[in-house]
Amino acid sequence: MARVVVIGGGYGGVTVAKGLDPVADVTLIEQKDQFVHHAAALRAAVDDVWEHAIFMPYSYLLQNGRVIRGTVGKVDDHKVYVFGQEPIEADYIVFATGSTYPFPAKHSATSQASVAKARIEQLHENLASAQSVLLVGGGTVGLELAGELAHSFPHLEIQIVEKEDTILPTPGYTEEFRVNVRQQVDELGATVYTGSELAFLPPTSIGELGHFRVETKAGQPIEADIWFQCYGAQPASGFLRGTEFGSALNQDGTIKVQPTLQVQGFDNVYAVGDITDVPESKRADAARHQARVVVANIAEQIEGNTPDVIYRPTKEWVVLPLGPELGASQLLDADGNTRVIGASQTAEIKGTDLMVSVIRSQLNLP
Ligand SMILES: Cc1cc2nc3c(=O)[nH]c(=O)nc-3n(C[C@H](O)[C@H](O)[C@H](O)COP(=O)(O)OP(=O)(O)OC[C@H]3O[C@@H](n4cnc5c(N)ncnc54)[C@H](O)[C@@H]3O)c2cc1C
Repeated sequence: MARVVVIGGGYGGVTVAKGLDPVADVTLIEQKDQFVHHAAALRAAVDDVWEHAIFMPYSYLLQNGRVIRGTVGKVDDHKVYVFGQEPIEADYIVFATGSTYPFPAKHSATSQASVAKARIEQLHENLASAQSVLLVGGGTVGLELAGELAHSFPHLEIQIVEKEDTILPTPGYTEEFRVNVRQQVDELGATVYTGSELAFLPPTSIGELGHFRVETKAGQPIEADIWFQCYGAQPASGFLRGTEFGSALNQDGTIKVQPTLQVQGFDNVYAVGDITDVPESKRADAARHQARVVVANIAEQIEGNTPDVIYRPTKEWVVLPLGPELGASQLLDADGNTRVIGASQTAEIKGTDLMVSVIRSQLNLP
């Protein structure tokens, strides 16, 4: 049976591993002891119940293959090296190591769920004692966190600084979407400073309780008791530097892939999700779609055929909850046209359940 090693058990890696499990000998390598549903991490940052719901075991994911806990330090085109373990031979390798992001949006630095939960619990205590919060970055993460904070800690004064002249500066978001979100954020009572870059970051650690005063480059003073860095996603591709895959890495750390999602220069190596240089915004949903393309292509190769399924990036779309009841979304209809929906429909799509049931079912959990 063909041996497939998938590196990284996030949204993309899990989908590849499960999809190939019936037709190949699959090994999924993941450094964390539990799957982390990061799309709901900001709800967990403010809510005791959700703090547990975002962590899910891998135990039932594969029927034939295995999930190995470990950190990959090096790869060549037929071998994967996990720290402290014997090298694993592979006929096909899939890079699905995603990206890191500052706490609490992603638990990048924590591999044990129990440690991550303790960190979140401490954060809940800090937020209950804080009077004011500063969110650095007015993109989707900063605004989603603002909505969650306003819902769960209504006493908090929320301030958001965004260095660009508009919130949600990612190209591809429509003005209608931005205006809809801005109105709701204003109604929540948050203060938004656009065109305002901080001259220096607060002296306290992210999520730590401690009053501070910072200034924007234009000299606007801002004081708060706690702050969060809401920017700074980094592709998790360090383990490929200095290997034969180094030439396939872009300067920003993403990996060059062909439309079939084969890594440039390698027939038997694929990549999915945030680590790729596919030209679209990084989403769990895109990682899962890409994973299905990789499953189809590796299955073809196992049968002796040429892999010819192509991944086509979509136009920009996003579902942005602002707490359980508010939010806005920029969606695409069947013809690829953009339409914007408001709070109640967004809450129906994502605000209430945050896709937990979809992910649980993917992991074969009740
Ligand atoms: C707050 C927030 C909300 C979001 N909401 C949404 C949303 O609603 N919808 C949506 O579509 N997208 C959302 N996203 C984006 C989404 O989370 C990412 O696009 C998605 O996580 C990418 O999936 P992935 O499988 O590529 O990588 P990841 O989910 O980052 O998973 C990579 C995995 O690889 C593991 N790993 C890394 N390096 C190694 C190594 N060397 N060895 C072993 N294992 C390793 C990591 O531990 C991790 O588990 C959100 C992101 C954030 C931060």
